[in-house]
Amino acid sequence: MKRICVLAGDGIGPEVTECAVRVVGEATDQVEFVRAEIGQGALSAKGDALPEETFALMRSCDSSLFGAVTSPDRLDYVSPVLRFRKGLDLYANVRPVRSLVERPNRPPIDVVIVRENTEGMYTQNEVFDDLGVTTMRKVTRRACERIVDFAIDLTRSSGRRRITCVHKANVLRGSDGLFLSVFRERVGMLGKGLESSDQLVDSAALKLVTDPATFDVIVTLNLYGDILSDVAAGVAGGLGFAPSGNIGPKHSVFEPAHGSAPDIAGKGVANPTAAILAGAMMLRHIGLPGPASRIDQAVAATYASGHLTVDIGGRHGSQSFTDHVLRHL
Ligand code: ATP
Repeated sequence: MKRICVLAGDGIGPEVTECAVRVVGEATDQVEFVRAEIGQGALSAKGDALPEETFALMRSCDSSLFGAVTSPDRLDYVSPVLRFRKGLDLYANVRPVRSLVERPNRPPIDVVIVRENTEGMYTQNEVFDDLGVTTMRKVTRRACERIVDFAIDLTRSSGRRRITCVHKANVLRGSDGLFLSVFRERVGMLGKGLESSDQLVDSAALKLVTDPATFDVIVTLNLYGDILSDVAAGVAGGLGFAPSGNIGPKHSVFEPAHGSAPDIAGKGVANPTAAILAGAMMLRHIGLPGPASRIDQAVAATYASGHLTVDIGGRHGSQSFTDHVLRHL
């Protein structure tokens, strides 16, 4: 039996996480769920958005399923997401985006974005002076090596063939230059049989929109991966379509790529697809590929049979969409 720590969080987090828990629980009897607090609820009840008992539970479980948190607009606030990514050494953020519905004037997309998850612009290391603010951006050789190795492994193990390094090494010659040269080195050593290329982040953003078939697997730095995965999700239909996994040597946390969406929270209309597919990614990661594939197929079949969510012009809210996924399951 695998233990899963469920962290619903804020905004639409609880709404979509509940849908994912229903579907995962129906797909397999090999998991049990334990719940923990994170985000604004935890901050008001315990004075910490990521209380120690939550963190301890995440460490002791086989994996975690996370919803979303809302971050208050305070300079001294460190997001619990950044804290658990760092604290659990979740160095790889994997964001697959695949079209599930045909959309007028939008090409189909099927891409996996592998994003470095521990450094870059996301260290919240900002120095204030009279002139303004300097943000420190860290790119280490070790982080580049492990994310590139991870992406090469993932490309092979998922039956994909092409890997593209996305960077801005023509301007950030030192830091992005290091990332690009590590990519070339590691692909030379480990990427036998794979096609490899590199692309500047600005033109990659354009290509993702105009010709997404250019890409199969993208490996990139933290900020670029965050932005490009939202672009890719937009091509597929919106943020409700992009699941993600934060993966490290010992621990993992799966979540929808979207945030807490305060504008639609409490209305029951959030698209739970990203959260449900994150549940499938989690099952695959913890060694339950059969139930994972059944969930992927049930979600695809739900869309194929014309049951669409509100965000792409359908009539289904979170729960009624999930009812259809369960029927297909
Ligand atoms: P946060 O600050 O927590 O990141 P946000 O609103 O800035 O929240 P998102 O939560 O990612 O960022 O939402 C961006 C937009 O996408 C919002 O208009 C939101 O309603 C929409 N959106 C996000 N997730 C979903 C979803 N699952 N279903 C439908 N729309 C969504």
